[in-house]
Amino acid sequence: MPEEGGATLYFPVGQLILPALLASCWTVCSGADWCYQSDFSCDHPCNGPKNWNHANSNCDGKQQSPINIVTRKTLKDERLTPFKFDNYQQIFKGTIKNNGHSVQVGVPHLSTVSGGGLPTSYKAVQFHLHWGNNGGPGSEHTIDGEQYPMELHIVHMKHHYSDLTTALSDAEGVAVLGFFYEKSNRANGKYDPIINALRSIKNANGNTSLLPVSLAQLIPAEQNLTSYYRYKGSLTTPGCTEAVVWTLFESPIPLSIEQLRMFSELKFHSGNSMIETFRPVQPLNGRQVFRSGGAVILASSALLMATIATALGLSQPN
Ligand SMILES: [Zn+2]
Repeated sequence: MPEEGGATLYFPVGQLILPALLASCWTVCSGADWCYQSDFSCDHPCNGPKNWNHANSNCDGKQQSPINIVTRKTLKDERLTPFKFDNYQQIFKGTIKNNGHSVQVGVPHLSTVSGGGLPTSYKAVQFHLHWGNNGGPGSEHTIDGEQYPMELHIVHMKHHYSDLTTALSDAEGVAVLGFFYEKSNRANGKYDPIINALRSIKNANGNTSLLPVSLAQLIPAEQNLTSYYRYKGSLTTPGCTEAVVWTLFESPIPLSIEQLRMFSELKFHSGNSMIETFRPVQPLNGRQVFRSGGAVILASSALLMATIATALGLSQPN
């Protein structure tokens, strides 16, 4: 059954066809694969983020990701202690793949994370990235409306599961550690294995072996990972399953603009440039975002001045 605006497309009434085609292109493209907005055009009518519910009804859920984190509305939670990273230093030879939506690296299930307020330990499964256009805004999560140039997602599942599909049937089955990137004046040599592999996987479904890397070398030093945000959400691509315990670390990873630009050389399945590979932020729908003890909350300057004045004993008693 054709649905909504797409229905008119199937009526072979001459005068209706052009407007119907246009309407179907602009609004509904049922049956097509999902895509990012940057990959959508009338030559390539795919289901953009507003129509991901056609790919999977979960995408219309009430606990979707990503979100904008409004830091002054976050709640400090003392249970959000530092993480324990096990085998994150383990060097492995992975395969990096252009899967048509992102670049993804499978990780041997040996690296695990626990603590950090997680209910149990989780093992790393894969990591992938979301980016902008030539180093422009590209992160999925935003902090007080700020979109970073790129975001890393290290996807983990509860240690006792053996595949992600099973883990996604558990409301807390998956833990994603999210890291932001920032533009730096110098290249980050620790990213050479990833960046150098990109030229070999420009086309969708391309894959190549990665020079040895560890997860630890791709993220900030452990002592800089005590400040983070926590909330319950979903996968940020269809099926949009609401089974993810999200952690977003405050400390960003530096990359040079040249390194960031390399990601925009990749291609989607359509042949279009793989750029702006992020889902727009989703409604909170009453969810609370928590912050760890270390997470910075920026007070307004007026409040800050008052606090300083009080501390210096300048304020009037009562
Ligand atoms: Zn992701």
